[in-house]
Amino acid sequence: MNELLDLGGARGLLQRGREALRRALAAELDRLRAAWRDGRAPAFDEAFWHGVERRLQVVPALFLRGAINATGVVLHTNLGRAPWPPEAVAAAAAVAGAAVLEIDPASGGRGRRERAVSELLASLTGAGAGLAVNNNAAALLLAVAALARGRSTVLARTEMVEIGGSYRMPEVVRAAGSALIGIGTTNRVHLRDFEEALQNPDVASVLRVHRSNFEQHGFVHEPSTAELAGLCEEYGVPLVYDLGSGVLLGEDLPGASEEPTVAKALADGCAVVTFSGDKLLGGPQAGLIVGVQPLVERIRSDMLTRCLRLDKTLLAALEATLALHGLGEEAARAAIPALQRLAWTEADLRPRADHLVARLQEQVPNCRAEVVATQGRVGSGASPTQDLPGAGVALSHATLSHEELAARLRLADPPLFARIQDEGVVLDLRTVAESEEEPLLAAVIAALAD
Ligand SMILES: *Cc1c(COP(=O)(O)O)cnc(C)c1O
Repeated sequence: MNELLDLGGARGLLQRGREALRRALAAELDRLRAAWRDGRAPAFDEAFWHGVERRLQVVPALFLRGAINATGVVLHTNLGRAPWPPEAVAAAAAVAGAAVLEIDPASGGRGRRERAVSELLASLTGAGAGLAVNNNAAALLLAVAALARGRSTVLARTEMVEIGGSYRMPEVVRAAGSALIGIGTTNRVHLRDFEEALQNPDVASVLRVHRSNFEQHGFVHEPSTAELAGLCEEYGVPLVYDLGSGVLLGEDLPGASEEPTVAKALADGCAVVTFSGDKLLGGPQAGLIVGVQPLVERIRSDMLTRCLRLDKTLLAALEATLALHGLGEEAARAAIPALQRLAWTEADLRPRADHLVARLQEQVPNCRAEVVATQGRVGSGASPTQDLPGAGVALSHATLSHEELAARLRLADPPLFARIQDEGVVLDLRTVAESEEEPLLAAVIAALAD
């Protein structure tokens, strides 16, 4: 392979980097081998190199690459959740080389790596202390491990939820080394159930979990967080609340007005609150922990916390995102792309859809494009039943099925992800930045060129 790479280099095929050339060579060699197996005898000649060149044009330099999210799901987990604010991108890039990470520039001595982020978290939420780790799943695992390892954790059956894939609350508690005590029933749990469980001196934490991706209606009951926190306080057992999305500012986030806020959870008396960095906070992947100081310090000094710490680029991006929240509610909602996208109304999006349809009709004659009303979603388990009415473009093709058209868009450069509906392949503009409209147009044109 090294010889082939050198030969390719001599032919000027390294513009997209050595790894892209290696992949193109490997794919072309596979084709040759398959031909040999079939009894044909293709020559290793100019045709081979033409094949490599053709592949180089379509083989991406990297498999993990940027894409356009036109699904209308603002926090799309499979497309990387919250789009970073430009300030976060710049902050991460700035520390890719050497950085002032665990060093105090004043003394030249050792510094704490997540110090700025911890202080911002505490000041923004009013909590005694804050801490950031790899993701919210890690944050909850750490909280339970540090507070209740080798002892018991109480969790109501109304909140024994699974949040995507293998992340199931009872299993997280067990993985943290704590014995789970389930109380109440699937639909109802009362304060007296908690009180009964708290008689057991082995109980070291009570867990409350935001149900996130579903809602319960009908014959249901749960004590309020404030009631539960009051009871836990009486028994001297910390109440840990896994909020999931974590709304940092304000009570009525447009598009997600029913999500509990971090401030409310703390004001209700929770001892520890955990939430994600890349959901409604609108930043990089991270798990944020805020709460009363001695408990947060106990979590900080747990050995597992060292194992689940954040990389310097993510810390920098998180610090920049939190700093934007520090500008105040209105400024933050204007500067953080995820929050901006949630707030866009149909009236904001329709003129953009009109404009895009006119351009498509002009430039992609074999495809029909029309403006349609859309229903977006918050995504990532936040406000699962809340619709976000917007506008978008429905594409349909004369000969391709909607599925075939959507597949071509996914394989375009940049990859374009849309939603298939009866009226066509729908590009919901709620999740498309204005700066992405030209690349989106280029992707559609390239996908349909032949
Ligand atoms: C999303 C979510 C998680 C997982 O958060 P990650 O940041 O993806 O690890 C945990 N708990 C709740 C309630 C959630 O909504």
